[in-house]
Amino acid sequence: MPIYPIRVFPDPVLRLPTTPVVEFGPDLARLVDDMLETMYEAPGVGLAGPQIGISKQLFVADVGDGPFVMVNPEIVETSGKWKFEEGCLSVPGRWWEFNRPAFARARGLDVDGNPIEYAGDELLGRLLQHEIDHLHGMLLLDRLPRRLRKEALSDLRNVTPMGGP
Ligand code: ZN
Repeated sequence: MPIYPIRVFPDPVLRLPTTPVVEFGPDLARLVDDMLETMYEAPGVGLAGPQIGISKQLFVADVGDGPFVMVNPEIVETSGKWKFEEGCLSVPGRWWEFNRPAFARARGLDVDGNPIEYAGDELLGRLLQHEIDHLHGMLLLDRLPRRLRKEALSDLRNVTPMGGP
């Protein structure tokens, strides 16, 4: 099974809109397996389609309770507030501490197209929000408070060869 190269900021594919998955079958199952392998190899706790250049609405994850996949997911509920040091495989080697809602509930489909729901606080809640952001072309950088974001972007510009004005 191939391991995909992970797309890194400022790769424009990370900003593209994604389309819902409409075909469920062996090709999707294979893609999910390959995404999980890529995620574990990285290593990371979540990986969304755009991060391997696939502009489809799906992500894989494992926050310690085993692997799962969500297809066409959406956040349906959030609450609370939790400060956490968050990173992203597409912004490697960087972590920023910032607030997001502590709890999140997401609904979507599993690899066979059956409705599923995941909900949790702290790490799982955070992950659901982070991965679903990817499917909307958003990165954690977009969630940083303004001053922190300015610092982060200028910092990334200085070290990323593809960066520039
Ligand atoms: Zn990410």
